[in-house]
Amino acid sequence: MKKRPGFPAKVDFGQTHTPPSTQLSATKVLPSAGLAQKAKTPINTTPSGIGLDSAKVRERMVQKLALQGLEDEWVLKAMGKVERHRFVDTALVNQAYEDTSLPIGLGQTISKPNVVARMIALLRGGKNLLINGKIGKVLEIGTGCGYQAALLSEVSKAVFSIERLKGLHDKAIENLSPMGLHNVTLIFGDGMLGHPGEAPYGGIISAAGGDTVPQAWIDQLAIGGRLVAPWSSEGASQSLLVIDKTPQGLQRQVLEPVHFVPLKSGVA
Ligand code: SAH
Repeated sequence: MKKRPGFPAKVDFGQTHTPPSTQLSATKVLPSAGLAQKAKTPINTTPSGIGLDSAKVRERMVQKLALQGLEDEWVLKAMGKVERHRFVDTALVNQAYEDTSLPIGLGQTISKPNVVARMIALLRGGKNLLINGKIGKVLEIGTGCGYQAALLSEVSKAVFSIERLKGLHDKAIENLSPMGLHNVTLIFGDGMLGHPGEAPYGGIISAAGGDTVPQAWIDQLAIGGRLVAPWSSEGASQSLLVIDKTPQGLQRQVLEPVHFVPLKSGVA
């Protein structure tokens, strides 16, 4: 079985990953079926030995996020819980908690922690979509390595995350399966079409940006729901776009500049 790097890289977690049991186009990221039957609660994958070290480094990252102005307690808690170092390549493990974007393979990147946190906080900032503090259903476009999906799992009832690159979809299954996140479903497909089967969504969040917002996303957003995505008006630089779907219509806000990978159509 393949060993994952620990944090810092030189320390051994003694942790293995469970390979995905199925390669369906929509995959619940539970541990493999046999394990799931034996253990009714999610399997404890807390790394032994250096678990506390990575927890401390994450705590510092969370303190920094709070100092930078992030106030949403739910998001801060999720950022402190999800182990970002599990989602990046072995060689990059030591940079996992720095405020930097990192390559995740196939020319794609995982965004800086403060951008990821900001976007999830914005998603939670919609007016009518929280149920006991949690967003109902969330649709994520661009699963990538699965890091943001794991964060969304902490603040939502259910997460549906789509990736168009098979290699990354498979990687995300591998990364997320051992975490036993019962409310995350990974889908291999073109996120520009959304995922109509589970619509409407209380939140839609995209990790890839284009110069239009696909109509499917607007159609699949619940009334009271909020969409957060990178967006650029033709030829201009990218900014964060927030769209609230209200009973009176769509309300748009264009916020700070961001740098996300392009939103592409089709699968590869
Ligand atoms: N949220 C991710 C970030 C991944 S980067 C993480 O935490 O790792 C953005 C991802 O969007 C890339 O993996 C890219 O392949 C994907 N993407 C781009 N266009 C897409 C589309 N139409 N449908 C689904 N995924 C898309």
